[in-house]
Amino acid sequence: MAQLGGQPILIMKEGTERTRGKDAMENNIAAAIVIAEAVRTSLGPRGMDKMLVDQFGDVVITNDGATILKEIDVQHPAAKMMVEVAKTQDSEVGDGTTTSVILAGELLKRAKKLLEQKIHPTVITEGFRKAAEKAIEILESMSIKSGIDDYKSLKDAAMTCMQSKIVSESKEKLADLCINAIKSIAEKDENGKWVADIDKVQIQKKEGESIDDTKLIRGIILDKEVVSAGMPKRVENAKILLLQSAVEIEKTEFDSKLQITSPEQIQQFLDEEEKMLRNMVEKIKNSGANVLICQKGIDDMAQHFLTRENILAVRRVKKSDLEKLSKATGGKILNDLNDAKPDVLGKAGLVEERKIMNDSWIFIEDCEDPKSVSILIRGGTELIVDEVDRAIHDALCVVRDIVEDEKIVGGGGAPELETAIQLRDFAQSLGGREQLAVEIFADSLDIIPKTLAENAGLDQIDVLMKLRASHQKGNKFAGLNLETGEVIDNMMEVGIIEPTVVKIQAIKSSVEAASMLLRIDDVIASAKTKMPAGPPGGPGGMGGMPGGPGGMGGMPPGMY
Ligand code: ADP
Ligand code: MG
Repeated sequence: MAQLGGQPILIMKEGTERTRGKDAMENNIAAAIVIAEAVRTSLGPRGMDKMLVDQFGDVVITNDGATILKEIDVQHPAAKMMVEVAKTQDSEVGDGTTTSVILAGELLKRAKKLLEQKIHPTVITEGFRKAAEKAIEILESMSIKSGIDDYKSLKDAAMTCMQSKIVSESKEKLADLCINAIKSIAEKDENGKWVADIDKVQIQKKEGESIDDTKLIRGIILDKEVVSAGMPKRVENAKILLLQSAVEIEKTEFDSKLQITSPEQIQQFLDEEEKMLRNMVEKIKNSGANVLICQKGIDDMAQHFLTRENILAVRRVKKSDLEKLSKATGGKILNDLNDAKPDVLGKAGLVEERKIMNDSWIFIEDCEDPKSVSILIRGGTELIVDEVDRAIHDALCVVRDIVEDEKIVGGGGAPELETAIQLRDFAQSLGGREQLAVEIFADSLDIIPKTLAENAGLDQIDVLMKLRASHQKGNKFAGLNLETGEVIDNMMEVGIIEPTVVKIQAIKSSVEAASMLLRIDDVIASAKTKMPAGPPGGPGGMGGMPGGPGGMGGMPPGMY
């Protein structure tokens, strides 16, 4: 409320809550730290799992930072920003979500101490920016080259990221599966760089059997059945016609009247329709196809003719699945049956309808050089299948990260600790108050090896001392091996490996969130009842923040 010539001016709606200055900042920091604390115990292979129950009583058991935060319904705007850190991390690199949230929490916890010493937030954020820049440089330069042909490292990295999951017993098999999937779909771009789009790996899941029955299908799985009972359910050496249009007689766009004056005319009319459908099936058959996958409908009469020709047909397949099929089988998607020729057909070693639990699925598999593949996830219960799905997602991302970025580091706290040591040297060169900010940044990085130790029931200080001693001797990949609980000189030697981009992104996302929270000194929250359930925020719209759908909706675009 401002004052003008004794007349109060109402700026904000009634019921609006406002916290300012130190209070606002303290509240935000406290909320963010609570979130970081919540995921802390789940870090690393010795981390605990969380059981989350939603308002409908559905249960999720997971150790995945992004999932934990997605499932818990946080209210505080600052807490929501921490959830956003995990989401950014997940969408950018697919792993390191817990790490990034813990790091953001630690940065804020330590920044709070500087604030108490009357150091201005902008000095801290500027110091953080410089520290992050330097940290990324350090991580880049300590990395080792890897890439698509380095099978051992790809496998070690995939297994490292699955260590901390429920599936860890099957990690070896799942790692092979993920690498083979990514290797199939990876392609070189115009600059000769490898790119692997994980959307080209289709994931299908069904409870039943066990995790070890999870399979890579060199092709696509359709959640469909063969359209007519009389058709073959299994076709080897399949030649597949991919069709976008319907195998039906087109209805006219406008109303038309047909004058039928005698029974013969009806017959003639039906005969004509039959002839057209027969003609269409004839074209399909003449192309040499023995499988038809159609995006639209297939007329009953056409089904009858197709059955007679021993063609396996599937209808109403999603457009996106048709596109994947085209990539997997090498077939062209047709719009017009007149283009049906042998050279547009896709190929697959086998097309087969199989019953899994109570559903029929169509497997189009054994494709020669599929640029789109599928993973069929199996596991005892739905809960397990879902956690396998998350583990496979992380492993696919990690393999993709290394294929695309071609850089790796050792894990077990090694990169964080090495970066912290080098950052402390860098801080010396700065002097002044910024030096303090860079120093607390370095101290914050120690939280990762500390938490790994803590979660394994080891003594944090002891571990940190041993780690530092080894790093001082020049062992940049000295880390905590949680298989044995010992500090070792080179994590690479025991195959605990991570993609460099995962470490870099964890720094980027945590620093962005921490800095953003540190710059806020005013939280203006409109009354909840009047909150519009509208689209994500207007310009600078803080209004939708508390409890608003989408949570971060109020942030101006481009913040992340
Ligand atoms: P995030 O969500 O951050 O990926 P995780 O629970 O997956 O969290 O834990 C990842 C951390 O665990 C990484 O720092 C990684 O180096 C470490 N880690 C994984 N396996 C081992 C191991 N066997 N020994 C030591 N550290 C490990
Ligand atoms: Mg992980």
